[in-house]
Amino acid sequence: MALVSMRQLLDEAAKGGYGIGAFNVNNMEQIQAIMEAARETNSPVIVQASRGARAYSNDRFLYHLMLAATEVYPEIPIVLHQDHGNSPETCKSAIEMGFTSVMMDGSLMADGKTPSSFQYNVKVTREVVEIAHARGVTVEGEIGCLGGVEDGHGAGLDGLAHLTDPDEAVEFVHQTGVDALAIAIGTSHGAYKFTQAPTGETLKIERLIEIHRKLPNVHLVMHGSSSVPKDLQDIINRYGGKLKPTWGVPVEEIQRGINNGVRKINVDTDSRLAMTGAIRKVFAEHPEEFDPRSYLKPAREAMKKVIAQRMTEFGQAGHAGDYRPIPLAEMAKRYARETVTV
Ligand SMILES: [Zn+2]
Repeated sequence: MALVSMRQLLDEAAKGGYGIGAFNVNNMEQIQAIMEAARETNSPVIVQASRGARAYSNDRFLYHLMLAATEVYPEIPIVLHQDHGNSPETCKSAIEMGFTSVMMDGSLMADGKTPSSFQYNVKVTREVVEIAHARGVTVEGEIGCLGGVEDGHGAGLDGLAHLTDPDEAVEFVHQTGVDALAIAIGTSHGAYKFTQAPTGETLKIERLIEIHRKLPNVHLVMHGSSSVPKDLQDIINRYGGKLKPTWGVPVEEIQRGINNGVRKINVDTDSRLAMTGAIRKVFAEHPEEFDPRSYLKPAREAMKKVIAQRMTEFGQAGHAGDYRPIPLAEMAKRYARETVTV
């Protein structure tokens, strides 16, 4: 099975009333962890690579690892998504390589740090939508600014500094034609999201509900949605790590989001914590080990476990075989028809 359109996965998720985790990768072990979790839970999959991941891995390697995933797991629909494209050029290079979905994050300027104007955001996002849809590729945009920094990308703001304005979101979707929209409702990138235990008021769910009410047919995306579980933090700290006390987004809050139009949930930190804890444990308990497999295998297993749990919690488990993938060429025809009718 070829890599699949993200739009199709999100449309199916909307029909089924569930969410789909979008998990970040940099290497083979992380891709394998996600694919094994998907097979175990029978889940459709979104794998995403940031600019940092593409640079780290040399993206030709990453792309071919993803093709290997389609060969080894033919029963699983798999999307390869560019996370936080900082410019139309980044998105174009991803599309040319074979990514089936791209995020054009025009909420920040191309430096990935400076908040941009609404007009700039519309312009660069619209440009990417035209190029992507002609090839059947999905586009995610962002309106409002997320907190923190992800792989060097982000304004480093507090998560509540630039929440998404619902009317601006409507205008943005109409002017750009994006398939999915990342919104800022109080989440932040990285491990240090909240300095105290979140309450039901931590995320601005009312804001999310209002956006969904105004844009019922747009798939909403929650970034910075790792839960940063205490048990994974504890393993790292028990074996010599020095994480400061921190809290992530509780799974119940994500599930409230899913009940209100969230279809894509970005998770990266939880995978990092799981792998690092497993590696530290091997190093502490078996300092005589020097074969990388002795620590990468348990690291891969630990990541698989947390991903499988998220797939179940988000509701995507059990849905891998619900539908036949639509080829990108067919998606392109659909987009062309939509444009004509507008
Ligand atoms: Zn993000």
